[in-house]
Parts: sequence; C-alpha cells; structure tokens
Amino acid sequence: METMPREELIKLKEKKLPEAIKRAYASPFYQKRFKEIGADPNDIKTIDDLEKLPFTTKEDLRKSQQENPPFGDYSGVSMEKISNIFASSGTTGEPTTMVITRRDVNVWAERAARIFWATGLRPDDIAQNTYNYQLFAGAWMVQWGMEKTGATLISMGVGNSKRQLITMKRYGTTYFTGTPSYALSLAEAAEKEGIDIKKELKVRNLLLSGEPGSSIPSVREKIENLWGAKVHDFPGQSEALGWSGSCEEQCGCHIIEDHFIVEIVDPETKKRVGPGQTGVAVLTHLEREAQGLIRWWTNDLTYYVEDECPCGRTGYLLPRGLSGRSDDMLKVKGVRVWPAGIEEVLRSLPSVGQEFQIILDETNVMESGVLTKLKLRVESKESVKDTRKIEEDVITNIKARFNLTPEVEVVEPGTLPRFEMKAKRIIDTRKTKG
Ligand SMILES: [Zn+2]
Repeated sequence: METMPREELIKLKEKKLPEAIKRAYASPFYQKRFKEIGADPNDIKTIDDLEKLPFTTKEDLRKSQQENPPFGDYSGVSMEKISNIFASSGTTGEPTTMVITRRDVNVWAERAARIFWATGLRPDDIAQNTYNYQLFAGAWMVQWGMEKTGATLISMGVGNSKRQLITMKRYGTTYFTGTPSYALSLAEAAEKEGIDIKKELKVRNLLLSGEPGSSIPSVREKIENLWGAKVHDFPGQSEALGWSGSCEEQCGCHIIEDHFIVEIVDPETKKRVGPGQTGVAVLTHLEREAQGLIRWWTNDLTYYVEDECPCGRTGYLLPRGLSGRSDDMLKVKGVRVWPAGIEEVLRSLPSVGQEFQIILDETNVMESGVLTKLKLRVESKESVKDTRKIEEDVITNIKARFNLTPEVEVVEPGTLPRFEMKAKRIIDTRKTKG
C-alpha cells in the first residue's frame, strides 16, 4: 500500500472518493451544502472535481452543533453505529464534539500502527503514552495503534512529570509519545530529579506531535541530544487526526494518501498551491464513516514536495511536517512569521535556553492586527549578568532568516512557563483585545 506507484495511488483515491462523498451526503449538513451551490454528489468523481465544493470550516461545525446539539447534523450515521465520543479542548472557542464508529476505530488503529511501525515500534518495545486521555481523541488513536503493533503499553496520560520519569525507569520504557514541548519539559524535570535520561532510561524513540517541532531540524536535534533517542512526527489533529507521519529516513512526513485527499490552499486567495509553497492543508476524508468531512479546512500550515524518499513510500512528503496554525500567523511589516519559524532559529542558538515568548502589546500591534515590530522574550541557557551577547545572537539570526530586526528581552533560565501538552508561546497583553 505505502509504496504503491503514484498512478495507482491516484486511481485508488479516485475510486474511494465517490463512496466518501456518498457517506458525507447521507448527512443533512452536506445535503444542504450541495443544494446551496446546485451541485450533484454524482458529479464529484476526480480530485479536481473537489474544487467545485466549498470548504468545511471549524465555524461550520460549531454552528451545526449549536443548532443540532450535541453532535450536529454532519455525522451521516445513526446513533447505534456510534462507538465513541470525543471533544476538542475548546482553546480556540466553543469545544466541538467528535463521534466515530467501530469501523473508524479500526481505520485509526491501522493508520497509527503503520506510522509507529515505520518509526521502529516493535512487539518487544515498552511504549509510554503521555497524551491526555480525557475526551481527547489523539490519545486514543495512539493507544489503539500501539495495541495493533503488539508493543507493551503504559497508558500514563498527561502530566505528573516525576511519576512519568519513575515509571519509565521502573519498567524500562523504550518508546515515548507526547508533545515536543513535553519532551523538553520532561528532560528538564529529569535533571532536577537527578535522573540521567541518557544513562538511566532506555528510551530509544520519541514520537512527538500535537504541535510543530519534530520535523524542524534544530528542534528535533535539540530533543534528540537531550534524550539520546530518535524523534519522529505524526502530524494532524482534531477532525483530521494523524494524516501524515515520519518514516525511518527522517526526511519529513509522508501524507497517508489512501486515507485522505490533501489540497494545499493559499489562506488568502483560497486557491490551490503547488509543491514548495506554504498554505493551509485542506483534507477530504476517504475512510471516515461518521463525520466524513469534505474539504476540511484544518487551519494547519504546511508545504509538500514531490521528491522521492529513499524509504520507497510514494505518499508526498511534508519536509517540515506542519509549521503551525494559520491563525497563529503573524504579519510583521508585511513579512509572514510563524512561531515554529522563530522556534527553529532559537533552538539552533546554544546561548538561548529552553523557552521563549512572542509578545503582542499596545506598542507593537496596530489596529489592523499587523505588527510593527517583532518582540521576543527568551530565556538564556545559563544565568548571566550581561545579556548583550545573547540579544545580539538572537537579533542577527532572526534578521538573517526573516529580514526583520526583533526587539529582544533576555530572562533568567527557568522563568517562563513549561508545558505538558501544547505550548502557548504567543502572549497577547493588550487590554483592548476581544
Ligand atoms: Zn520516507
């Protein structure tokens, strides 16, 4: 399946597409949408035909669930087929509910197992899952996928760093899953507890997703050096969980094309863009039974390349995984800047410590939302009196990358917040906000 020639892969996707459209069209939500634009579901046969259809956004789903609580009118299957209920964290508004069927569970498990296997997880591994199990679908997808590989599972859930470390030591955990931010926090916690993670723990592989990082070389190298282990990525969240994943070559993430049709769309013009160009990933589910979404606007920014990968997988590659949410995109004097891009630069600087913040306040944000200046707050690696050298380091390297001169404040190591799940590094202190 994974090394299928591209012509055959496209044929397979287009064979699955009408079925997927039919499943979606079983819901009042999509019947209404098709009617609104005068489209006939039987006319959508090819990947190009999809462009005739509108995007499905988070706002659309929220509205559907407000009007038809609690599941909305886009599930397309009857209640007796639903096997699990999940919900988004609601960090960007009202939480949305996700439902899946038994068939969906199996599809998720297969998809996750394929990625875990590609990253080296084997039946003799002991895998520790630190994602949040509470209503969060991602933790369960990881759980089911790991079960399928035959590995031994430790279902820890989120947080409690000391207990995570003791558990790893006691049972000899070899494979770790969580967010990149948590892998960094945990390494720091280990140092405080006097645990040498390279010597006393047996972790060989870390699968870190839920936010950008694992596919950004400087971030990956930093975590790999701290842990003495390999870092892998499994991008894709909320309504489109895990739609791509690392391979053993670590040259990016392959799109899992037999489960999704992926279009990369410019966030402003809303037109498809080609290889190498950054845009929002728009996904059409080919295998989802409940809530099969058509042209789902993920809000995740990425780009793909058509290069062949030495691993032989034919799914197109996302060389840097996902680069962040499009609503986290900042415009500084017309230059597009993402937190992951800043992170990439900062993690490559040895004088800079673990955490950083991007500051938005009255002095640098105009009414239009455009920034007049990039303001960064960074921790130093060591406690130093004179921080000028670090400031210069940051300014020179940010300027080289973005052609912008940032304002930099250096703070003491360990003074900025740490994260157990997704990091929050854009800090908006404007009083008038919202
Ligand atoms: Zn590959």
